[in-house]
Amino acid sequence: MPTCLFCKMASGEIKPDIVYENDRVLAFNDINPQAPTHVLVVPKRHITTLNDLQESDAALVGEMFLAARDVAIQTGIADSGYRTVMNCNADAGQSVWHIHLHVLGGRRMNWPPG
Ligand code: 5GP
Ligand code: ZN
Repeated sequence: MPTCLFCKMASGEIKPDIVYENDRVLAFNDINPQAPTHVLVVPKRHITTLNDLQESDAALVGEMFLAARDVAIQTGIADSGYRTVMNCNADAGQSVWHIHLHVLGGRRMNWPPG
């Protein structure tokens, strides 16, 4: 998707502050962090929302969580705790239309979320 912000990051056209990368996923610091650690994990392949996932994407989504685990270890929040969130569509507040897993930590999280 040539106009998609996270596709541009995946292709290197736009360079985010990368914290983790492999052939299939990219993780970078959120531009508007909501916690001391706030990283977004995205697949390099465009998928618009969680609703668009196919059965064949199962391994890719698994890799997103493995990347989140590695980011948590790397940023020192694995033991203290962290939250992973994927917002889908308007009621959840999705604002970028390329799936992304938020990894938030470094402070106490509230529950239920707002
Ligand atoms: P959503 O609201 O879709 O769940 O999350 C989108 C996230 O992308 C937000 O946390 C927002 O701050 C982040 N974001 C939007 N534009 C940019 C950008 O240009 N660079 C980075 N690093 N993050 C962005
Ligand atoms: Zn995209």
